[in-house]
Amino acid sequence: MTAAHPHDTELADRARRVIPGGVNSGQRSIPGLADLVITAADGARFTDSTGREYVDYHAAFGPPLLGHNDPDVTAAVAAAGRTLDLCGVGVTPGEIDLAEQLCELVPSLEQVLLTSTGSEATFHALRVARAATGRRLVVKFQGCYHGWHDSVSLNVISAPDRVGRHDPISTGILPEVLDATLVLPFNDIEAVRAAFTEHGADIAAVIVEPVPHNVGCLLPDTGFLQALRDETSRHGSVLVFDEVITGFRHALGGWQQLSGITPDLTTLGKAIANGYPVGALGGRADLMQLFSTTPGAPAFFAGTYNGHPAVVAAALATLRKLRTEPVHEHVFALGDRIRAGLTDVFAELNLPAVVTGYGSVFVSYLMSGPVPRTYADLLRNDVGMFIGYRRRLAEHGVFELPLNLKRSHVSYAHTADDADRLVEATRTAVRDTLAA
Ligand code: PMP
Repeated sequence: MTAAHPHDTELADRARRVIPGGVNSGQRSIPGLADLVITAADGARFTDSTGREYVDYHAAFGPPLLGHNDPDVTAAVAAAGRTLDLCGVGVTPGEIDLAEQLCELVPSLEQVLLTSTGSEATFHALRVARAATGRRLVVKFQGCYHGWHDSVSLNVISAPDRVGRHDPISTGILPEVLDATLVLPFNDIEAVRAAFTEHGADIAAVIVEPVPHNVGCLLPDTGFLQALRDETSRHGSVLVFDEVITGFRHALGGWQQLSGITPDLTTLGKAIANGYPVGALGGRADLMQLFSTTPGAPAFFAGTYNGHPAVVAAALATLRKLRTEPVHEHVFALGDRIRAGLTDVFAELNLPAVVTGYGSVFVSYLMSGPVPRTYADLLRNDVGMFIGYRRRLAEHGVFELPLNLKRSHVSYAHTADDADRLVEATRTAVRDTLAA
């Protein structure tokens, strides 16, 4: 970056010598910010190794709904550690309590299993769907991300010439695995019906982010999720809502509570434990009973760290706070304030923009026209501008991830002043980018 934004190149160089690319997950090394070394996080902020503080709207891709290092969550984790750690046999009271609350809150959950990540949850959802139906194919939608495993590692953010055909995000995936995934356009009921007409008897599952937030925010058209429910039911396929982002963040019962549409299986993660590594897969008891956690059942399910007491304590403390404090009210109000402020800024600067999102999630696409409904609409986003002004935002101590189509998040720790600071910094960053 510029001299105005020094980075700790020495530490980052050490990282690059022993960690491929210097980071531990794809999309953590950002062009222009490759030397970023994070040393502290608290509330709505994180600090880098040069001492620079950022108001954080990236929020680690979404988990810390309460803010970083929430004192109640941190205290619960410490307390759990004083009495218990991982034993790997039987169950703990915390796991029972958490499962009961999840089943009470999320409409589709009759039973639930914990994993350590969202990817493991979606992996097992597809495995059990195949086990239950004896079928081969899964359907996903262009723009949705469901984790790193082979069946779903395709067609997330695709270049224009890759939309509508297989676009794996990794090499090393067997072609027959890719061939077993059908990719359809989100919000296209006719495409879904056509796929079922052609392949219905072979479709094990349809997996969908009910709101595809991995490309910012595409809201489902009225009737789209219902059409998925109708088609999967009619053809005996399993409907999976991947609520890893929407679960808890948009409502305690997830998007299924808000939409009134109940899938067969649901995957959860991220906001459930406010940043501790957790995922969950739940749904219809007859499907969940197929997992090998039930003696003699056929679908293998395991994980050394599943239900780790520290993670369960974090989840229980998070839930307690979500259930007793006006967290959603707060983050929804700030989300609205930010969307309104940003809309004004882009209008003032005469820059075509669509500011959208839901509740605590927001994104500003740099494009004209109506609110996007499907991935193809997002190809109009001005990528250079989208990334360019976000890089400048970082120089103003405000962090929205400078990568194409990434959403941003408000937490319970953000204040109205933080929101206004984001809006003001955006005004300056966009103006400077336009002038550059
Ligand atoms: N599903 C969705 C909707 C996600 O956004 C993510 C993570 N971004 C995953 C699944 C995978 O979760 P994890 O990174 O915890 O494996």
